[in-house]
Amino acid sequence: MTSALAFTHTVTERFLRYVVIDTQSDPSSPTCPSTAKQKDLGRLLAAELKAMGLADAHLDEHGYVYATIPATSDKKVPVICFCSHMDTSPDCSGTNVKPQIVRNYRGGDIALPGDPAQVIRATDYPELNNQVGNDIITTDGTTLLGADNKAGLAEIMDAAHFLVRNPQIRHGTIKILFTPDEEIGRGVDKVDLKKLGADFAYTMDGETAGTIEDETFSADGATITIEGVSTHPGFAKGKMEHAIKIASAIVERLPKDTCSPETTEGKQGFLHPIGMSGALEQATLSFIVRDFTEAGLKEKEALLESIVKDVMKGFPRSTWRMEVKEQYRNMKQVIDRHPEIVDYAVEAIRRTGLKPVRSSIRGGTDGSRLSFMGLPCPNIFAGEHAFHSRLEWVSRQDMEKAVQTIVHLAIIWEERA
Ligand SMILES: [Zn+2]
Repeated sequence: MTSALAFTHTVTERFLRYVVIDTQSDPSSPTCPSTAKQKDLGRLLAAELKAMGLADAHLDEHGYVYATIPATSDKKVPVICFCSHMDTSPDCSGTNVKPQIVRNYRGGDIALPGDPAQVIRATDYPELNNQVGNDIITTDGTTLLGADNKAGLAEIMDAAHFLVRNPQIRHGTIKILFTPDEEIGRGVDKVDLKKLGADFAYTMDGETAGTIEDETFSADGATITIEGVSTHPGFAKGKMEHAIKIASAIVERLPKDTCSPETTEGKQGFLHPIGMSGALEQATLSFIVRDFTEAGLKEKEALLESIVKDVMKGFPRSTWRMEVKEQYRNMKQVIDRHPEIVDYAVEAIRRTGLKPVRSSIRGGTDGSRLSFMGLPCPNIFAGEHAFHSRLEWVSRQDMEKAVQTIVHLAIIWEERA
């Protein structure tokens, strides 16, 4: 079966068409999508899907694209969905993206022509060592590339095109979902899961070719509010308790060699201040807390609380409060109830000739929220590297492997039904 599939090489063309459309999202905007320009790409994708013959393809008012590839099998196959996000990160410009293709990469550093200071160094991206002979797509160094997540869009579009063109391939109903505003944490706020009607989903938004990620961080936010004691500074001796100084003392007491983003990796969690504001009388500290387990989160929150209590001992007339809010949870809790979702993905990756690698994400994805909304959704590689930066890159060959993975997944779900 595998050898009978004559895959095409059209994913790169699609990718290059999508990256030049600016779709940067904006966390300060209250609308959905946060930026109207995301709909420019949504309209193009919906039109291309329609042109392929997917009759129900459409962009909705909130900026989501939905489409269905009808089943070619009479078996009762679970409905699976492939999902990618259309927006790019607010951290780096996505205006006027000028891609370059380094054909038949020979190894070594890649200089970006638009800015001499921007060099993709092989020592910083050891994954480049596995790309010798491949075609690598970068920008000119003045913007991000947007492979996160336009590589995923192009791969899903190309796989859809392939399946539609090859009706002899047996598969169940397949759904396509493209979301706005993932980069600002709002990617599934307005998704209509009933309309989508899928049993299981896969985001195509992972890094290295061959990886499948079924674990994300669990995440809380913690806010500490300090009420100090204000007096006129000329008459403050023995009376003033300065809220800004109390807040600074708390930050100063955070662990220095562990428990921070800059000192952890792999399965280690952290406690990370993301905001500080204040005046003499009141100060606020905002933290994000991350770990792969619930117990790990609780431990870090207890550590934070003990630091605050200890610092406050030196300020007996000031008060404090700490508020913890759940943000998202490790999707493994949900995905483990349906082991076939990951098993089939591992098999699909193997059929492309890659070595499957199971991995975890030090962050959240649309998939972590979708999983808890009732649509279990691990994350498959899209081939994107150096996200959210001007050094972003992706290879043509890795994107083609991702297209093949999607097609094989469709086939495997039908085979096993
Ligand atoms: Zn992404």
